[in-house]
Amino acid sequence: MQYRRFGGTGLDVSVLSYGAAPLGEEYGKVRYKEAYESVHYAIDSGVNLFDVAPYYGEFLAEKRLGRILEKRRKEIILETKVGRYKKGAEEYFDFSEKGIRDSVERSLRYLKTDYIDILLAHDIEFVPKKVILAQALPVMEKLKEEGKVRFTGISSYMLYIIREVATQFPVDVILSYSRYNLTDTSLNDVISDSMIEGKIGLINASPLNMGLLTSRGVPAWHPAPEIVVERVLKATRICRERNTSIEQVALRFALDNGLPSTTLVGMNKLEYVKANLRALNSTIQEETMAEVVGIIKSVRNFFWREGIPENYDPGCYFPDD
Ligand code: NAD
Repeated sequence: MQYRRFGGTGLDVSVLSYGAAPLGEEYGKVRYKEAYESVHYAIDSGVNLFDVAPYYGEFLAEKRLGRILEKRRKEIILETKVGRYKKGAEEYFDFSEKGIRDSVERSLRYLKTDYIDILLAHDIEFVPKKVILAQALPVMEKLKEEGKVRFTGISSYMLYIIREVATQFPVDVILSYSRYNLTDTSLNDVISDSMIEGKIGLINASPLNMGLLTSRGVPAWHPAPEIVVERVLKATRICRERNTSIEQVALRFALDNGLPSTTLVGMNKLEYVKANLRALNSTIQEETMAEVVGIIKSVRNFFWREGIPENYDPGCYFPDD
């Protein structure tokens, strides 16, 4: 396994990290045994960052990960989040001091630990910037001083709000998702090396663009526009014809980005962990990569809107325009 410096945290993070959203059954049923095997195999292979959130499956992912980790908790960097929750079909955001404190206590209980390595404000594009700057992050800093949390940060799909908040508050970690992959490379246009170097650990999550770049096809709930889905299906066929897979090509593409410290993939099955570890050491034929990139090029950076209008990135075309 290769490791990179994780911003200014002093930690070294594996270039491939484990996303536990699927353990909350965000992508369909997951058997406990499968999840157990995938986590232990990943740790044995040197993966050291594990990302989870109360939101994933209404605490199910945290509960499962806590149970699976048991005695191995100290071997890893454990990241969870605050602020975004689900109650049945309802979703809500709560970045109040009480909300954050209650959430952290619950996460500690479910994750069976007495400290969280990284605590992120979850999907900050859904609330006004001042809520994050004046309310959430200061409370999270207090939790650091109290020893419950080691490092803090923010996550978002929208990138400009990440940049604004991170230049106004000294966050340790940024998690951006679905913004550096075969279909969207905007991450590197908005977040620069000089902004983060030596200070902020950058996580590039969802290199398979939340299942869009997988052979089994895009999940029904996926927000990608039809035209992007069509192009990806064509690229998927080409990969198969060239004896590789869209997953391997997409991972190689994301891993070759030198800006993030780590690439965070959802891996709920042993077979996915093994395949994604394989991608670390594999090369894709130049012609195949060029062909795939060429097919997708005309729809690249067709990103969609998330959050509240004041936090939209400029140039968001979908779903309305
Ligand atoms: P992803 O692009 O990493 O993967 C999508 C899905 O593809 C996975 O969940 C898994 O079911 C499947 N998969 C993984 N490897 C595969 C392989 N080799 N072959 C076939 N299928 C494979 O998307 P993701 O899981 O949504 O994101 C990665 C992680 O990043 C999440 O688990 C979560 O921890 C984190 N994340 C955070 C935020 C946020 O903070 N707002 C948002 C998105 C993701």
